Amino acid sequence: MKDTHDISPAAQAELWRDRYSKVALIGGRLVPSANAIEVIEPAHMTVLGEVAANDAADVDAAVAAAKAAAHDWAETPARERGRLVAEAGRIMLAQLEPLAHLLARETGKAIRTECRGEIRVAADLLEMFGGLGSEIKGETLPFAPDVFAATTREPVGVVGAILPWNVPLVLMMLKIAPALVAGNPVVIKASEVAPFATYACAEMLAALLPEGVINVVCGSGAECGQALVDHRDVAKITFTGSEAVGEKIYISAAKRLIPVSLELGGKSPMIVCADVDLERAVEGAVTGMRFTRQGQSCTAASRIYVHADIHDAFVAALKARLDTLVIGDPLDEATDIGTISSPQQVAKVKGYVALADAAPEAEVIRCAKLPEADTVAPDLFLQPTLVLGIDPQSPVVQEEIFGPVTVIRKWTSYDEVMAQANDTEFGLAASIWTKDLATALTASKQLDAGFVQVNAGFTIQPNLSYGGFGRSGLGKEASLESMLEHFTRKKTVVLSMS
Ligand code: NAD
Repeated sequence: MKDTHDISPAAQAELWRDRYSKVALIGGRLVPSANAIEVIEPAHMTVLGEVAANDAADVDAAVAAAKAAAHDWAETPARERGRLVAEAGRIMLAQLEPLAHLLARETGKAIRTECRGEIRVAADLLEMFGGLGSEIKGETLPFAPDVFAATTREPVGVVGAILPWNVPLVLMMLKIAPALVAGNPVVIKASEVAPFATYACAEMLAALLPEGVINVVCGSGAECGQALVDHRDVAKITFTGSEAVGEKIYISAAKRLIPVSLELGGKSPMIVCADVDLERAVEGAVTGMRFTRQGQSCTAASRIYVHADIHDAFVAALKARLDTLVIGDPLDEATDIGTISSPQQVAKVKGYVALADAAPEAEVIRCAKLPEADTVAPDLFLQPTLVLGIDPQSPVVQEEIFGPVTVIRKWTSYDEVMAQANDTEFGLAASIWTKDLATALTASKQLDAGFVQVNAGFTIQPNLSYGGFGRSGLGKEASLESMLEHFTRKKTVVLSMS
């Protein structure tokens, strides 16, 4: 890659956009693709660029490059692998501004509130996993006096990593950092909606790693993604995305008996008790619902249960706080909230709001001001929306909206609110807000979710095991445990000394 330190972040972002136009990264080289998909810049509804529409033959070439690199990468000492991965994190951080610029343009997320932070977390994941090479160790087993028995951990082989558009860089590193440190080569299927920053980061890694250890393809899920899942030389699939696609991938992988990890959707409850510090809980709802990401988060607090004693005050304070947020051009430093990612997603979110508008029992409160049409194309901007009092069986309460819409319900009985909170097929995240320790501990035991928080609404954090129950997915990410369970296989070795 050309050294471009002396050019502006915007110009560097455009250079990357052009560099990664209609190519796959295979075996350390950018390989032109015959077909392309348009990438739309949602804030302006203009074409940002074109990304490769790779087919099964391209996927085959990427997997072959990865397979050819597998042996030597597995033989590279684990700490050396980790050192290279951590070094890539430092290089990414040095390119924070242009990367944030590109990410803001392709995802529509605000550069100040979302994109810079995403790059910091992605780099942090590279650094964290980079330091875990020494932890890929086995155990000695008590078996018989004249037999030495032990386990070792080996790489699994070529890993296929399939990414969505909402937080592409963090989700990319959650998958490939542990896979690489554990000794596996990877083939990434970038999101066709927001691919360019993924390519830029992958090439930063590729510049450090042996040829073929990291490869990137892009294209439609049905053609390119499915070809990766079905490829006979792919030993493991790690996927983040929708429930429907996750189910399809699980079925395909079952036919080849390969392991999969799936991070899917959520409909996460936030329970607010009467004893809370109201201001803190309101701020927790703004953060927990990821309003600055337009609610496009699998852990979004999209069902908020507020005790009747403070319900009205909470709603009023939340509305007042959301009204202060600026919706606008993702690249404007004054902007808190950017756009929804695509017209299809806007249509989906509007469909749920229309259902709420039509429900006689519900009240719909729209917050903050939409931007003026002279600075942006207004199509993909939506207001943060609160839906009060809607029937708990409504699709607005039961289904993942993946937009800036949260349901707020009043409660008085702890047992009833706990039953409502758990009345979902998902089980990704949940939070309870209270000053009472016994309530907090009881609820954290009873809440049926993989990530339970008390008085906090964090998103995915390096070193905290993260993953859902039920239809939210299979397996954990972000931790040492995730690296060992998903990206190594355990072998038992016995040695007879007699
Ligand atoms: P999506 O499922 O439509 O697509 C995700 C990726 O899968 C894309 O790269 C797509 O091209 C690919 N794909 C589609 N069909 C495929 C197939 N048959 N085989 C292989 N790959 C295929 O999801 P999206 O719209 O990009 O992302 C939004 C969804 O992701 C939301 O539903 C959200 O809940 C979920 N999500 C979950 C988490 C989590 O950690 N649990 C995080 C972010 C997003």
